Amino acid sequence: MIPAPYSPMRIIHLRQRLRDLGCKPCHEDRLLRGWSQVDSYDRVHSPAENFFPAALRRELSAIEAELDGLARLSGEYPANGHRIDTTNNHESHDRSPTPTLMEPIAIRLSPQAGRAQRGGRSRANAALRGPSDNEGVARLLVELADGQMVESVLLPRGGLCISTQVGCAVGCVFCMSGRNGLIRQLGSAEIVAQVVLARKRRAVSKVVFMGMGEPAHNLDNVLEAIQLLGLQGNIGHKNLVFSTVGDLRVFERLPLEKVRPALALSLHTTDALLRARLLPRAPQIAIEELAERAEMYARATSYPVQYQWTLIEGVNDSDAEMERIARLLAGKYAVMNFIPFNEVDGLAYRRPSAERTAEMVQTLKRHGILARVRDSAGQEIEGACGQLRARAA
Ligand code: SF4
Repeated sequence: MIPAPYSPMRIIHLRQRLRDLGCKPCHEDRLLRGWSQVDSYDRVHSPAENFFPAALRRELSAIEAELDGLARLSGEYPANGHRIDTTNNHESHDRSPTPTLMEPIAIRLSPQAGRAQRGGRSRANAALRGPSDNEGVARLLVELADGQMVESVLLPRGGLCISTQVGCAVGCVFCMSGRNGLIRQLGSAEIVAQVVLARKRRAVSKVVFMGMGEPAHNLDNVLEAIQLLGLQGNIGHKNLVFSTVGDLRVFERLPLEKVRPALALSLHTTDALLRARLLPRAPQIAIEELAERAEMYARATSYPVQYQWTLIEGVNDSDAEMERIARLLAGKYAVMNFIPFNEVDGLAYRRPSAERTAEMVQTLKRHGILARVRDSAGQEIEGACGQLRARAA
């Protein structure tokens, strides 16, 4: 008999299950708040044991175990080369140079550990929100319930980059995630579970959907996760960043959502023919149209469009590109993020020199375009997105 394909959990399925247990929207919201914020279900004068329906109380441990199993930590690759000693919870400050292939620090949080944390997690979360936000930058290899792997990155200042698909159909030539095409979609609960997993390690105040996958190709699940994170998950709406290569469905759906995220548009070049080669299965939409639609969304939300540009030496770092960017973005509510390419085994591309990168930023600034080199702390770890998963596979 052929086994049924794995059906990833969605928030709407979880809500339906809660309704079947006699929950009303207020019960669902309290549970989803507690889960997504890694916080207690209790409220002052309203402990969960009095508030939740009896059927939910009976099922709660099983539901929690299932949620804990959605995304488990398979390995952690810190940026600072400090190996975290998981036996005594201290960092051992190993100052030896960070090797190219870092050994994973395998940590598996058991459902029991998750529940044990739950009681004290309000205090723990408060303690984590400190001035040491720049610490703890790491790439996480995350195992899903069916054994598939995705990557998340703990970024500086409370940021978290998460995946929306296993693999990716766009097949950008500079990206490991797209090398084997799309393997499967993530369910909305699996997307949120990456935030929960990260929050068990440190505070998260910003979530960018820039990990493995093209969010536009899994729009229902990604938008469901965004609504939960923005309404119950205590993430500011402008701190939810939807990244796309550009897809008309995104420009149609995002403005209609209750929680409207900020938009990041992966452009990489202003040359349409080159873009079709670099992003072979991205929708063929004229670059000017993409920029116009993104601009309309930026004006409607008051969040600037974040243009993403993976900088590859000799490919998209020419003076002519800079001139075209300046023309394209003149007067637009936008910021250009240059991301120097991370060298990957088997790909011949290289990143431009730091001097050339700085020169490009200055050129755009002279034209009045906001440009910056994106903080690459998370990206430096084990190279490009998808590399960890590829090694694990
Ligand atoms: S860069 Fe993004 S869109 Fe392109 S293949 Fe990788 S994950 Fe997919």
